[in-house]
Amino acid sequence: MGGVNNMFKQKLEQIKQGKLTAEQNIKNFVDKIKSENKEMNIVLHLNERVIEDAKKIDEKIKKGERVGKLVGAGVLIKSCINVKGLICNCGSKTLENYKSGYNASVVQKLLDEDAVILGMVNCDEFACGSTGENSAFGVCKNPKVMSRIPGGSSSGSAAGVAAGFCDFALGSDTGGSVRAPASCCGVVGFKPSYGAVSRYGLIDMCMSFDQIGPLGECVEDCELVFDIIKGKDEKDAVSRDFEDKKKDLKKLKIGVLKINADKEIWRKIRERVEKVCNEKNWKFEDVELEYISLGIQTYYPIVYTEFFSGTRKFDGRKYGFKIEDSCGEEVLRRILGGKEITKAEFAGKYYRRALKAKKIIEKEFENAFKKYDFLILPTFPKLPHKVGEKISVEDIYDYDACTVLANLCEICAISVPCGFVEDKGDKVPVGMQLLGWKGCDSDLLKVGGEFEK
Ligand code: GLN
Repeated sequence: MGGVNNMFKQKLEQIKQGKLTAEQNIKNFVDKIKSENKEMNIVLHLNERVIEDAKKIDEKIKKGERVGKLVGAGVLIKSCINVKGLICNCGSKTLENYKSGYNASVVQKLLDEDAVILGMVNCDEFACGSTGENSAFGVCKNPKVMSRIPGGSSSGSAAGVAAGFCDFALGSDTGGSVRAPASCCGVVGFKPSYGAVSRYGLIDMCMSFDQIGPLGECVEDCELVFDIIKGKDEKDAVSRDFEDKKKDLKKLKIGVLKINADKEIWRKIRERVEKVCNEKNWKFEDVELEYISLGIQTYYPIVYTEFFSGTRKFDGRKYGFKIEDSCGEEVLRRILGGKEITKAEFAGKYYRRALKAKKIIEKEFENAFKKYDFLILPTFPKLPHKVGEKISVEDIYDYDACTVLANLCEICAISVPCGFVEDKGDKVPVGMQLLGWKGCDSDLLKVGGEFEK
């Protein structure tokens, strides 16, 4: 499946057969990170034990012991997912020196399959942002187009894959944070259905939406990782085993969702849709949904409310510093905004109204998915701006218009690279987004694989 030659799977095979050592694979990444990261600012903390970890895996292979599906693979982790012994600072001064004492469930699952954690990567502070510019440690570079933002908030996860610093990375997606940077950096980013992957050990941004997802060079890599990290975990009450909802992939009907986005981005996506659907004999047509224009207005009050509540634990007593005294502008905006809209005198008015709107949008999508197997739309509605360019908060929030829909509806979504657009002397990557109904994750990955080149 998929149109991309899978180097990662071949490499895993070589490691398993002893033709390449895990140590060599990991050393290649470490050398690259050491020589290029100063300029790229992708990795915040390199795992100091990483070579020892790799050697242990080679020992297992030598002794003929059973090894896992990710044997010797090098992984980068967004700095808001706990990895025991590593600094997990969420891109924030608030947690600058916070060394984690435990592994997130997803991390443990990767380790159980003999993956090696290379280190923790940059991100927008507490996952708040869509550009990567809100990190307290500076924006990381976009390896595909150095003058542009990498997208966020999982900026370092996408940039790390694009820079060849790892085999794959994990990010978290609350309103697009896996898919948006994947789109800007020209890699694949997958947000599973809400509840499909355990969030235990993820420092929350907004509990109603947060999901952990993989980023990789191609869809097949994300599929491999998803199969390992998915499933019920007693430590996360919303996690569950989805019954795998199967589609007849020979007879698909795809809806192309009408939504505002840059003309050139749409041109790229339409070309790709026509080409692939004609080749595969899949039907496709335009779909108009009434309430998707309310996505941003619905998403942000819920985020402000839950983020404000979630950050009350950062009062400076147990972890790091008091958040209000140590955070950046965007985080403070959300805390103050959340504090305001949850005042007793409003009696939950804004939050409840937003939850109602969420239900309406979800219903509309549920109906659309009765007619269509998958929906397609852009990932990032505009070309990512140049680093340092002044953009209003409203315009930045508008970057999320195409991605928040999947979080509002609790469905699965993937961003796959869809070529480049020439703009002001830059060749800028464009991402195309596919949406699938709850639990259709594995078929969405199969179909996504057909749309990547
Ligand atoms: N850009 C969105 C926000 O700032 C999404 C962030 C995310 O998915 N973590 O809320």
